[in-house]
Amino acid sequence: MIKVLLVEDEEAILLGLQYCLEQEGFLCYCAPCGEEALKIASLKEIDIALLDLNLPDMNGFQVMENLRKMKDFPVLFLTANLEEVSIVKGLDMGADDYITKPFKTRELISRMRAVLRRKKKNVGNLIHLGKVVIDLNSAKVLKDNKDVMLTALEYKILLTLALNPNMVFTREKILADIWDVNEEYVNDNTLTVYIKRIREKIEDDVNHPKIIITVRGVGYKVGDDF
Ligand code: CA
Repeated sequence: MIKVLLVEDEEAILLGLQYCLEQEGFLCYCAPCGEEALKIASLKEIDIALLDLNLPDMNGFQVMENLRKMKDFPVLFLTANLEEVSIVKGLDMGADDYITKPFKTRELISRMRAVLRRKKKNVGNLIHLGKVVIDLNSAKVLKDNKDVMLTALEYKILLTLALNPNMVFTREKILADIWDVNEEYVNDNTLTVYIKRIREKIEDDVNHPKIIITVRGVGYKVGDDF
């Protein structure tokens, strides 16, 4: 689930945005001022921030500057008029995009998705799963910045799941997907063994896995709550 930090002091806009985004499956953290936004960003994992420029305690640029010191997620400014647009463009502070109020939710969401897609490419095709990072370019997996040694088959199974977060894969589907890298015969029982081995390498607690989740009677998925 994509986690959005919404920073806007006009309550009607804030609640409207929250409602629309939640309908579309986003998870929203709402802040009516800069200070609250920074507090949330320090506590929560955020994928993207929507930032109003005119806030009661500090302006959007200051909020962004402070956010950038903490974490590197894309920021999309919500601007009220053309004057603000020209400021955003002129400052070139590295905002990822802006949108002028009033805007259509459809347009906002497609801009957000575009920014998120671009950002993913920019960081060299990394998939973040909590402490675990999959580097698609080098086909390496890191946990707490240390190499995790996975076999080709284990990597393929993890990748199959991680590329589609929250999608439940049946055991049959996983077996079909890994067939081409598979030199040894993998059947339903050995798949269980492989999943167990991957978990031993990437999970903090194999008895309570947070990355590869078992969906009883169906198969497995990579969750998004690490
Ligand atoms: Ca405002």
